[in-house]
Amino acid sequence: MKFLVHELKELYRQNLFRQTQRLDGPQSPRTVIEGKECILLSSNNYLGLTEHPEVKETAKKAVESWGSGAGGSRLTTGNYALHEELEQEIAQFKKSAGAVLFGSGYAANLGIIQALAGRGDAIISDALNHASIIDGARLSRAEVKVYRHRDTGHLEEILAKSRDNRRRLIITDGVFSMDGDLAPLPEMVALAERYSAMLMVDDAHGTGVFGRRGAGIVEHYGLEDKIQVQMGTLSKALGSIGAYVTGTPELIDYLKNKARSFIFSTALPPAAVGAALAALRIVQRETEIRHKLWRNARYLRAKLIELGYNIPTYESPIIPIFIGDDEKTMRLALALRDGGVFAPGIRPPTVPRGTSRIRVTVMAVHTLEDLDQALLVFNRAGRQLNII
Ligand SMILES: *Cc1c(COP(=O)(O)O)cnc(C)c1O
Repeated sequence: MKFLVHELKELYRQNLFRQTQRLDGPQSPRTVIEGKECILLSSNNYLGLTEHPEVKETAKKAVESWGSGAGGSRLTTGNYALHEELEQEIAQFKKSAGAVLFGSGYAANLGIIQALAGRGDAIISDALNHASIIDGARLSRAEVKVYRHRDTGHLEEILAKSRDNRRRLIITDGVFSMDGDLAPLPEMVALAERYSAMLMVDDAHGTGVFGRRGAGIVEHYGLEDKIQVQMGTLSKALGSIGAYVTGTPELIDYLKNKARSFIFSTALPPAAVGAALAALRIVQRETEIRHKLWRNARYLRAKLIELGYNIPTYESPIIPIFIGDDEKTMRLALALRDGGVFAPGIRPPTVPRGTSRIRVTVMAVHTLEDLDQALLVFNRAGRQLNII
């Protein structure tokens, strides 16, 4: 297997080699990474719920009552009352008729897309959609057509040219995972109606964060009755693992029969379901946590822009600091790490070539003191490397 060494060397040469970094503590505002205490500015644990006492307690109780594993897929022996309870609460939260769980967001997107589109159909996808959407589209064998990021004019052009396809499925991230900007859903709904296309939204980063009740990007736009297929994850603001799809009872029954990642994979373990249930209830009850997240997000973005970093001005807890050059990006990430701030560099193929960046995410549980200390490090590192 000589190609392994060859390919690895090539990745090194291009500054694209990736390595895992070990956390020696939990997903908290200050944690220990590779033995060094760091302010954590990269977690999708937006509300800090992985550390919430009620979430941990409910997960433990679920293990006591139901055991450590599900023992099979949902269609064989793995369908617990606990799974159904979570599905019902998610459907209510999302103001949807039904919901079905999947093992992860990645698995959900593979399963949903491959079930809804096949040969002869068109999948019409935003250029910056998550990798799991891209992979699901490939797996489906449908014709994949990509429109420029958030460009509804281009989307319409493609829709107009897809009239001969049997079915059309438009897919978008609700909140784009590497940029933090929002899909223009109201315009997309109108286009989907005009061209008789299905519309699917991936709300991985919106759930718990956007919308008046924290129900996500669809609530943010008030489009609850307009989005046919909504998926989201339990792994980000909800602090657990797993994913769900919401929609009509027919959609849910259809996916249970056709989505291969639902059928041929073991159901979520009780601890994960218990944690997600508790997190979902906290999101709805303790609205103050979300307000803190937004206060932190606005503060950190404004201060980073003040320092002179190249950052877009829209509001989101995901803050991309655009650098462009891959090597410079990684040098900044390293300088931040040395200063005690963990905010990773993101390079191709995760983001398009020439748009390498530091992806900063903020959490509700950061204190202003955490953020101010991090800003000192951003100032020093940015100046050292002539970025600001
Ligand atoms: C994280 C993410 C996923 C994958 O979810 P996992 O639960 O981590 O597998 C899918 N879509 C988007 C937009 C994401 O950000």
